[in-house]
Amino acid sequence: MLRNDTLDQWDREAFFHPSTHLAQHAQGEAPNRVIRTASGCHIEDRDGNRFLDAFAGLYCVNVGYGRMEIAEAIAEQAKELAYYHAYVGHGTEASITLAKMILDRAPDGMSKVYFGLGGSDANETNVKLIWYYNNILGRPEKKKIISRWRGYHGSGLMTGSLTGLELFHKKFDLPLAQVIHTEAPYYLRRPDREMSEAAFVDHLVAELEALIEREGADTIAAFIGEPLMGTGGIVPPPEGYWPAIQKVLDRHDILLVADEVVTGFGRLGTMFGSDHYGIRPDLITIAKGLTSAYAPLSGSIVGDKMWKVLEQGTDENGPIGHGWTYSAHPIGAAAGIANLRLIDDLNLVENAGRVGRMFNEALQDAVGGHAHVAEVRGEGMIAAVEFQKDVAAGTFFDPGDKIGAQVAGKLLEHGVIGRAMPQGDILGFAPPFSLTESEAAEVADKTAKAVAAVLG
Ligand code: PMP
Repeated sequence: MLRNDTLDQWDREAFFHPSTHLAQHAQGEAPNRVIRTASGCHIEDRDGNRFLDAFAGLYCVNVGYGRMEIAEAIAEQAKELAYYHAYVGHGTEASITLAKMILDRAPDGMSKVYFGLGGSDANETNVKLIWYYNNILGRPEKKKIISRWRGYHGSGLMTGSLTGLELFHKKFDLPLAQVIHTEAPYYLRRPDREMSEAAFVDHLVAELEALIEREGADTIAAFIGEPLMGTGGIVPPPEGYWPAIQKVLDRHDILLVADEVVTGFGRLGTMFGSDHYGIRPDLITIAKGLTSAYAPLSGSIVGDKMWKVLEQGTDENGPIGHGWTYSAHPIGAAAGIANLRLIDDLNLVENAGRVGRMFNEALQDAVGGHAHVAEVRGEGMIAAVEFQKDVAAGTFFDPGDKIGAQVAGKLLEHGVIGRAMPQGDILGFAPPFSLTESEAAEVADKTAKAVAAVLG
């Protein structure tokens, strides 16, 4: 094993970390953390410090760490056949089986699975398929994609554009022109504090209608949204939001992409977030929970309506000009199969719903009454605590105070990992579905201590 100081030096010298302050890291001003091993909901660093990971990595290790069933499935696949491509009709038993397993679990009306590697490339695929679809239909002008401010859909050129967070746009010349944003369904940040939830939904619908009117429905191809907004603040939609939005989209013949990278495979206590909120998507993005991050794998689940058109279109155009070397990688597929079996065998979707509810309640009890806690919100095994300077007046802290990050830092000192969400003072949680009741209580209790340490 490398000595700690060597590892430190090489890390600072050689490793370009994603989503990291580059100068602070390279110059040794920010701490680095090297994770050595993990089991269940706990990770351990190179110095032997143990943490309860209440964010499941990046809300992806849904079945928890150290699952030997998945590790063994990966090893067996690597020994038998580490790789073959999926072009021109090729496949492996693992990739075919997994496609079937995904469709068996998907909401009604889904037809095929296209495999990628991560959530960003799956959303790139979705946009390409949407454009291809409208070209086949002879509607070359119908190309714009509507996304929500605070939505998160990846950090590629198109997907970083879809992402509605400033950090992902500035200095990258994004968003691209084909992407337009509409208001987030974020009730705490509603434009008028007197607005009821129902009135807020009406307002969001009116905003969307106005945007479509302004741009022209014949220029808009699709709307993309996470069933429950994740990275933008962990925000469940207001009651009635999705059916109301769906109605507008249907009326204007605009496709709906449900980005289920976080919500897919159980996080809300249902197999898909679309099931949870009664969404009827044309495309579904999946990644993270598909393999619980034991191997990189993502997918675009294509609905019947689009599939029929795509299938017809290829007669004229020849093979579809879209594919990655690693599409449907057998090792990822083997991990996916073992992961989905484990979720079934251990009833982990049910556990995410049941223990998740308890976890949300425990958090509410622990910090919901604090003078600076504006809201404890969540659904299934995902939750957030949002802080405000003056809750009665609805005013937020100065972003420079970094209240969310401070609370997350204190929580870490207590051995629990939560995540300070990137925009706003929001402490997020998305633990593995295997979280126990006592672990849920521990996270809530330590959150209360961290909040008290920062905000009194
Ligand atoms: N969509 C959603 C909803 C996500 O949360 C993420 C990642 N956090 C992505 C897409 C992008 O996935 P990836 O980081 O695997 O590219």
